[in-house]
Amino acid sequence: MFRNRYKLIVSIIIIILLLLGNVYAVPYIRLIINGQQVYTDVPPQIVNGTTLVPIRVISETLGAKVNWDGDTQTVTVDMPQYTLEARTVEYFWDVYSNNIENVQEPKLDNSVSPELKTLLSKAYELLKQKAPQVYEFVCAYILEIQEAPLDKSIAAVTDTATHIVTFNSSYTKQAINFPGTLGVEVIATTLAHEAYHESSVCTGTYNTAVDNKTIEALAYAFEYGVAKQLGVSQDYFNWIKTQIINNLN
Ligand SMILES: [Zn+2]
Repeated sequence: MFRNRYKLIVSIIIIILLLLGNVYAVPYIRLIINGQQVYTDVPPQIVNGTTLVPIRVISETLGAKVNWDGDTQTVTVDMPQYTLEARTVEYFWDVYSNNIENVQEPKLDNSVSPELKTLLSKAYELLKQKAPQVYEFVCAYILEIQEAPLDKSIAAVTDTATHIVTFNSSYTKQAINFPGTLGVEVIATTLAHEAYHESSVCTGTYNTAVDNKTIEALAYAFEYGVAKQLGVSQDYFNWIKTQIINNLN
């Protein structure tokens, strides 16, 4: 359920054809996936006017798993269905909404500063207005919110045993001064991201076979869908996108 897959059986020729047009004169073909240059063991090459690229690098960059079965001479590509556009909040909601019973707003611990309190109440308002299902989702899966100093690269962490989300105090103190509505947007999508982690554990769909980076990519993919619903600033939207791509690399 978490990683609905569809299988593509590809012929033994481990290539895919990219319709790149006339690039005969280029001595080295650059391969760019999702805006980032990707290096391959075997460089892309032109054979009889067609540009050939190893399928493994393309597939794995996009989050798929590639297997080669020598006995049957078959290449299997397992493509998880969470491409940026496909993995929408609506899809996620369909899967998870049955498990939601408790929609109480998370309890605020004494450690929560007035700054964070302000940001949180604005974030809840934003969610209620633009993404009411996500608001319910956050309420259902996050029991309590705390605030503490964390590593500076982290906005918040969730403890899936206690269902407590801890926001980074040094970060939220800056967030209140972020330009425009950015501070509120960051808090709102971070809540969604952490609730996503909670939900995947609570509903037993947490896949231990998947590495941490893939789990992060999924959480950011969900956050991306929420950000889209909220209509966050373009810069922040692009930042979330970058997180998905970085975690898939
Ligand atoms: Zn995360």
